[in-house]
Amino acid sequence: MTDCIFCRIVAGEIPADVVARTDAVIAFRDIAPKAPVHVLVVPMRHEPNVAALAAAAPEVLAEMAAVAQQIADAECGGEFRWIFNTGAAAGQTVFHAHGHVMNSGSLGWDA
Ligand code: AMP
Repeated sequence: MTDCIFCRIVAGEIPADVVARTDAVIAFRDIAPKAPVHVLVVPMRHEPNVAALAAAAPEVLAEMAAVAQQIADAECGGEFRWIFNTGAAAGQTVFHAHGHVMNSGSLGWDA
């Protein structure tokens, strides 16, 4: 989707601070971090939210979990929060599925 900012990052049209990549998943640092470790784990394919992704491609969601754990192992001792805002009222602003990997410094985050 050309009007989706994460699709444009996947396509290489917009730069991002990429920390991990697989065939189906890309992970990059949040442009406005809310914790010392704040990485977005994003499927290459466009789905509007995590439930839609789970229905359409559960194997990609499983791959995202593995990538999230790898990032946490490397950056915050393997313990992390994994947040999927779903819907505007819940704080979702980018309607391409993504999980926020955040360290324990994010415990006050409620965006
Ligand atoms: P959400 O509010 O759950 O939809 O999360 C979207 C996240 O994407 C926010 O935390 C934004 O700071 C982040 N974001 C938006 N644009 C970019 C970008 N170009 N590069 C990295 N992170 C971004």
